[in-house]
Amino acid sequence: MSTPTITPWVVGNWKMNPMHADALQLIEEFKRLLQQDNILPEQCHIGMAPIAIALTSIQAQLKDAVRTIYTVAQDVSRVAGTGAYTGEVSAELLKDSQIDFVLVGHSERRELFGDGVETLQSKLYNALNAGLNVIYCVGESLEQREQGLAEQVVLQQICDIASVVKPEQWQNIVVAYEPIWAIGTGKTASPADAQTMHAKIREGLKQITPVGAQMAILYGGSVKPENAAELAACPDINGALVGGASLNAQSFYQIAKAFAQNK
Ligand code: PEP
Repeated sequence: MSTPTITPWVVGNWKMNPMHADALQLIEEFKRLLQQDNILPEQCHIGMAPIAIALTSIQAQLKDAVRTIYTVAQDVSRVAGTGAYTGEVSAELLKDSQIDFVLVGHSERRELFGDGVETLQSKLYNALNAGLNVIYCVGESLEQREQGLAEQVVLQQICDIASVVKPEQWQNIVVAYEPIWAIGTGKTASPADAQTMHAKIREGLKQITPVGAQMAILYGGSVKPENAAELAACPDINGALVGGASLNAQSFYQIAKAFAQNK
């Protein structure tokens, strides 16, 4: 059976960057590039994930772009609703600010901030039930890869969320495969290795949900203009989660263009 066409996603994860004035400049330049040579939404979905405090101002600034660019939250509270939870931002509060997408399970959250399976399940559950779409990140460490455990670890991370996702909610999830050893290191998984893992993830998703064949699976880990086209050409790589290169409007634009042209 042939693989259904999946519109790719290119999402910029700004992490704890940049200063606000630089962010505004970046957005203006990105909008200018699209104005000159647009990437149509049916060719590629585009999202930007700024720091929490900038979500609404960036969203407002993106409103007059020539096409839709989604504003994506980098994280969400494991606590739902409102209440006495100092420092937290719930899924309902994001939704109330018209933020429709959130990253869950980024390796930096898992490794540096102790987001374990239960926390991630709560975050994902709350996000989906508040009506957000989730970009769920998975990926193995270098040690796990060297021990031959990469596939097992990644498929387990997919299984970890299965119990909290209602059947009709799988269509609101995008998976991002980000080998930890490739994030911010300049090392990219070879397109062949990435494709192999993406195909395994696809098989795993298909066993869990009938929409598994249509779900976008993004690759993340030192994606840049130089390697984007090669990654985009892989059948099960349906986009990219881009860290460092998303802080440069020209680079981010070129990556989105590469995925738009390849699919
Ligand atoms: C990321 O943070 O999700 C990421 C992939 O970062 P980088 O592109 O810098 O490796």
